[in-house]
Amino acid sequence: MPSIGFIGVGNMGGPMARNLMKAGHAVTVFDPSAENAKALASAGAKQAASLVELAAASDVVVSMLPSGRELRVAYLDNDGVVAHAKAGALLIDCSTTDVDSARAVAEAAKKRGLQFLDAPVSGGVAGAEAATLTFMAGGDDAAVEAARPILMAMGKNVVHTGASGSGQAAKICNNLILGISMIGVCEAFVLAEQLGLSAEKLFAVSSTSSGQCWSLTSYCPAPGPVPAAPSNRGYQPGFAAKMMLKDLRLATDAAEKHNKAIELGDLAKRLYERFVQDGSGNLDFSAIIQTIRQR
Ligand code: NAD
Repeated sequence: MPSIGFIGVGNMGGPMARNLMKAGHAVTVFDPSAENAKALASAGAKQAASLVELAAASDVVVSMLPSGRELRVAYLDNDGVVAHAKAGALLIDCSTTDVDSARAVAEAAKKRGLQFLDAPVSGGVAGAEAATLTFMAGGDDAAVEAARPILMAMGKNVVHTGASGSGQAAKICNNLILGISMIGVCEAFVLAEQLGLSAEKLFAVSSTSSGQCWSLTSYCPAPGPVPAAPSNRGYQPGFAAKMMLKDLRLATDAAEKHNKAIELGDLAKRLYERFVQDGSGNLDFSAIIQTIRQR
């Protein structure tokens, strides 16, 4: 069974690395957060002191980092993964990043004869914990097939989206839908309050009607109808608002680069920008209902 190096064991990476251990892989972790790395070490992972040490110990490297900036640092620096990976290693980045960063790492990996996949995920922390994530994998057929058993230990769907960067393109478009739909669901629940309609009744109707969507049925922003939703635990993430803002920026930047107007995406980005600037970036993105209610 291939040994795995896991970089970035936060809200998502932590449970994903745990599922790889459950599947029987020897896992080495690296994370600058001593607290996050330690949590995995106490669950049985080996803790690497550097990426060089992690790369030397791993047949496969998986990463779950905040953004393309950390991806480039972790993979492209002189003391990073690409320079120090074992010959023939498979590199899988599951973070959400810009398309250009994913392609730059794929290019550098190829020059060293390494396989690289951009394989961002959908499903949230609950999906990471339950190993039910969907992976959107961009890269060569051979790399996707080599990665499939590893991805299936952390999820239940792998969609090969096309060449390098296409996984990130799929993720950015998916989260554009998510950001806009969450604001729509929040507005509906706030309006329902004004109209004297309870959150439970609106949920009973919309979850089985044409308003049905993931923001409603998995992350309902009104406390009550979905017990596992962040709204029932003080809006602790979940999917942090600052991460949603990052993804909406990726979408609006990509649209701008291609001269395409995405008006609702742009508005959603501005609403999340204000929410994060007001100090709520670490709350779940569904907490934006609180500012919509106040306005
Ligand atoms: P997080 O902040 O909880 O975890 C990120 C981890 O990376 C942290 O432990 C941090 O210390 C570590 N890290 C930061 N810089 C690093 C570096 N240079 N080298 C190694 N480790 C580093 O974030 P998260 O919620 O786990 O999200 C991670 C990625 O997953 C993001 O790209 C996010 O957009 C994506 N994502 C998150 C969710 C979600 O619901 N949280 C869902 C889908 C995708």
